[in-house]
Amino acid sequence: MQSRQRMFSSAMRLFLRWFRLCPRRGRRRAPRWLRELWSYNRLLLKSLYFNTLTNSDVIMDCLFEPVFWLVDHLTRWFGVVFVCLVVILTSSILIIAYISLLPLALKTYSPAWIAWHLCYGHWNLVMIVFHYYKATKTSPGHPPQMKCDIPAVSICKKCIIPKPARTHHCGICNTCILKMDHHCPWLNNCVGHFNHRYFFSFCMFMTLGCIYCSISGRNMFIDAYNAIERFKSLDAEKQGVPVTGVGLLIGILPPGSVTGQSYYQTPPPAFTFRDKMFHKSIIYMWVLTSTVALALGGLTLWHAVLISRGETSIERHINSKETQRMKKRGKVFRNPFNYGRLNNWKVFFGIEKRSHWLTRVLLPSGHAPYGDGLTWDYCPRRKDMMAI
Ligand SMILES: [Zn+2]
Ligand SMILES: [Zn+2]
Repeated sequence: MQSRQRMFSSAMRLFLRWFRLCPRRGRRRAPRWLRELWSYNRLLLKSLYFNTLTNSDVIMDCLFEPVFWLVDHLTRWFGVVFVCLVVILTSSILIIAYISLLPLALKTYSPAWIAWHLCYGHWNLVMIVFHYYKATKTSPGHPPQMKCDIPAVSICKKCIIPKPARTHHCGICNTCILKMDHHCPWLNNCVGHFNHRYFFSFCMFMTLGCIYCSISGRNMFIDAYNAIERFKSLDAEKQGVPVTGVGLLIGILPPGSVTGQSYYQTPPPAFTFRDKMFHKSIIYMWVLTSTVALALGGLTLWHAVLISRGETSIERHINSKETQRMKKRGKVFRNPFNYGRLNNWKVFFGIEKRSHWLTRVLLPSGHAPYGDGLTWDYCPRRKDMMAI
């Protein structure tokens, strides 16, 4: 019995050895040149898309690249349309103010109120026009294209030039912008180091102008709205409203008035085309200025918060990500360009002495911003804090 088991086990061992050796003998290996060609092509294919820095953000950017391309090109071409829209809408409000409101104010207001409206309205208008013109026409600033000794923090992949701190590439302008905040389609220009103050001042004075129009025209809007409603009812009556079912009124109404199935009321007094246009223009002005005041007011407040923190819109995004990253490491991120709330505003408006708050903020001023936008003073920081 034991000898049979030994024979069986030795036979199985031989079979397993044969089974291990058999595939090697039977496998037909591809020729060496074919294997080399295969591995070369595989390496070539991987080299086309392999990136050690690849993450979900890079993949999403690649997938959405056609969408970004389309949006960039549309924004570039529609920039002129947006600028025309700003000019047309602002001009329409001005025309209404000068043709409809000013004569009425001169007739009905007291001299003190007339003086206030004339002074404030024209000052606000000058500030809006000046800052809008400067924001659209002033170049935001670009880094030098040639090699220089300016300290750079990275290389722009599209321009292939060194990028100084706070510089970012604008896909719509297709160039690098110093201290880039964002590309504004309403200006058809990038908001950067040299025109950031003009952009913010334009937003601020446009919001103030819209709030001024909205508040001072509130009662006129209510009157105009009621008048338009009255016009509508009178128009309906003028066309003739057939009155049916007057059977119950037989005997109450004068004889002859219920002879037919319908009759027409007395024609209303005539309202001129000028009256209607006046009231409609008041409604248009109030709705437009109130809407812009709300929308632009929110944007202006957000930019005011960013300026208080010493950040641009792009840096807000980067800094919030960096804050989260540092928090995971048990460190605190500190913005190196935050010089303190008041100092940030002084740097932003270029305030060097007290009188500049009047001459450089509340009056039109074309002074250059602090610094050249290429090098920046870093706020001193503690050792346990990290900054990019
Ligand atoms: Zn660039
Ligand atoms: Zn741009």
